[in-house]
Amino acid sequence: MNINREEFLKDVEKLVNVDSGSFDMDGLKEVAAVITDMYKEAGLYASCELRGDGKRPFITATTKDPATFEGKEKPVDIMFFGHFDTVFPKGTVAERPFSTDGEKAYGPGAADMKAGIVMGLYLTKALREKYPDISIALVNNGDEEISSIDSVDSLVEFSKKARYAFDMEPGRISGNFVKCRKGGGEYFVKCYGKASHAGNAPQKGASAIREAGRCITEMMALNDYEAGITVNVGLIKGGTASNTIADYCEMILDVRFWTDEQRQQVERDLQAIADSPVTEGVKVEFTFISGVPPMLEIPETEKMVKIMEEEAAKLDLHFGFEKSGGMSDASFVSKAGVPVIDACGPCGDFLHSEKEYFVLDTIEERFALLFNTAERLLEENK
Ligand SMILES: [Zn+2]
Repeated sequence: MNINREEFLKDVEKLVNVDSGSFDMDGLKEVAAVITDMYKEAGLYASCELRGDGKRPFITATTKDPATFEGKEKPVDIMFFGHFDTVFPKGTVAERPFSTDGEKAYGPGAADMKAGIVMGLYLTKALREKYPDISIALVNNGDEEISSIDSVDSLVEFSKKARYAFDMEPGRISGNFVKCRKGGGEYFVKCYGKASHAGNAPQKGASAIREAGRCITEMMALNDYEAGITVNVGLIKGGTASNTIADYCEMILDVRFWTDEQRQQVERDLQAIADSPVTEGVKVEFTFISGVPPMLEIPETEKMVKIMEEEAAKLDLHFGFEKSGGMSDASFVSKAGVPVIDACGPCGDFLHSEKEYFVLDTIEERFALLFNTAERLLEENK
């Protein structure tokens, strides 16, 4: 089965040339409408609804009438999913719209991950042509870059219908896929002290900054690269003037881990550090902001990996399956118990920067490999 590169790129261009930063609600709705229309044009049952407190567009499209899903445990054979939000502000498209140079394609969100969304559609069309009875679902959200705040429940709920899932995030530039990812969380550490003049009456103050300093060194000492636990104080803010004992200092931590047990352990350790201030008169508060669970390596995922490796060998493609420290929606899907492979879209690099691109030659490669893998998975379920 082949993919028409020219047609494919035209469709990617349509999506890239709509600004759709995670906070650009008009842009998100506009690009969601373009995607939904493409799905409808392909004859899919497609709908776009506003979900969550932020009322963000969330798209589902299926080859079969979703009304027939009722009462079935796994009505969807294969799910392709991805996000249509980008990290780029409104106006980026005007500055550097979609372009190609015969080797690579550029533009805001081209690799991450508008090309992947379109590839999901092309795979669906090709698979349905060969297997008219196949049940495929396409799911797209518009808030992945901000931890899927409004779509996570909808995504998890829909995922449970699927036997297998592919996250169409960009492939690694090495060609590698991703089979598991770290989970992560963001946390506040707030130190409350007492202000006083640093020259006249320093002993009357209680320095929140001094206490924050202790927290930083102790918390960052929890880094354990071998075990895969990382703790980073990435933001800090406090104090009012150099001649004032600071009465307040706050920090934001990024924490990563492979397992839920590691998360619980590191949270306990961080809490203990917060609970033992050494500066008299200073109180430390440790609170959770947001988090993503780890993308787990479940046995069913290993089966997908094995099939993909076999099919890749037949196509003479060479790549590996990475464990990644970064997070994506694949984590939520795996937490729903669905085997999932991530980084399935065309391979790209310099994501989240103006140099972002994807490699044109990986369009056909990825397409063929995923098509053949999907065929094998279908057969396994007969
Ligand atoms: Zn992405």
